[in-house]
Amino acid sequence: MRFIAEDAIPRLLEHLAGGGRTVWAPRVVRDSVNTVLFAPWSAGEPVETGAYTHLSAKAALLPPTERLFGFGYLQAAGEERIELEPEEPEESPVLFGARVCDARALAALDALFFPASGGFNDPGYAGRRSGLTVITLACTTCDSACFCSSFGKGPAETDGSDLILYPVANGFLAEPVTDAGSELVRLDLFQDSRLEKPELAVTARVETAGLREKFIDLFSDIDLWRQVSEKCLSCGFCAYACPACHCFNIFDEMSGDREGERCRSWDSCMFYSYTLETSGHNPRPEIAHRYRNRIGHKFSYFPANRGEILCTGCGRCIRGCPAGVDIREVIRTVQER
Ligand code: SF4
Ligand code: SF4
Repeated sequence: MRFIAEDAIPRLLEHLAGGGRTVWAPRVVRDSVNTVLFAPWSAGEPVETGAYTHLSAKAALLPPTERLFGFGYLQAAGEERIELEPEEPEESPVLFGARVCDARALAALDALFFPASGGFNDPGYAGRRSGLTVITLACTTCDSACFCSSFGKGPAETDGSDLILYPVANGFLAEPVTDAGSELVRLDLFQDSRLEKPELAVTARVETAGLREKFIDLFSDIDLWRQVSEKCLSCGFCAYACPACHCFNIFDEMSGDREGERCRSWDSCMFYSYTLETSGHNPRPEIAHRYRNRIGHKFSYFPANRGEILCTGCGRCIRGCPAGVDIREVIRTVQER
């Protein structure tokens, strides 16, 4: 194992930012309420290595709002045509301080947006993802909302990480997972160590075996979906906080009559307008219909279509739900039906 001292972390981040790469790290962005979010880091800024972020790290790969391309209507030789101005590909970022549940969610996003993993070719996502470096902070504590032990290896998971840092006295033990991680621990910021890495057991878990089929069996039981979603306000926070939710809206921002930008922004299937059709008909008019879709997409449709469960047990939707909806209770109720 290799060791890096806590006070060497800023120098590691400066090394990672060399060459113009954006380094995303957990930072307090609103001191009054101590909100910790992943945000681009600049030299001299503090990083919160002990805190848990309120939103996931997905913004580093899927920005809340992004420009896809510009367009303009041009007159040439008496004809009108549309000219497109593609967005320049971004340099792949570094994600520092992801948790195991953030890193693991990359497989679900890749399955949809990254051609190298069988997904569609999404130029923005694929450009950022192709050279992404993920440095994960292992958890040594958990709270009452964590249930990552329900999926894969739980807190011992290495999928999605290049390098895992385990907090120990005065610093971190560093375990490389990929070649990129092995290259990093060869830096002279790291030294050899005989310390043992700490282990964490997250005991809270839900049973997901058979959920895919169970959901289909219970799809038409609308009373069940009304019961499990009766507290829900349809605010959409759970989708915005989630590392695996990825639904988006596409819209045009015009600047004048003849040119504009096509943009993409996060969306949530919990919003009434998400499925509202131009005719005024809405196939998911009730919160129960929308919450049923949220559960079905995560645990039934997406696993069937793309092979990944859209939940890593991070607990963010539980901690942040203003109405106290707990997705674990919903899964248990469905499983016991
Ligand atoms: S955060 Fe809670 S209240 Fe808001 S949509 Fe999700 S489950 Fe409903
Ligand atoms: S559904 Fe909730 S617990 Fe699961 S990954 Fe998303 S935010 Fe985390």
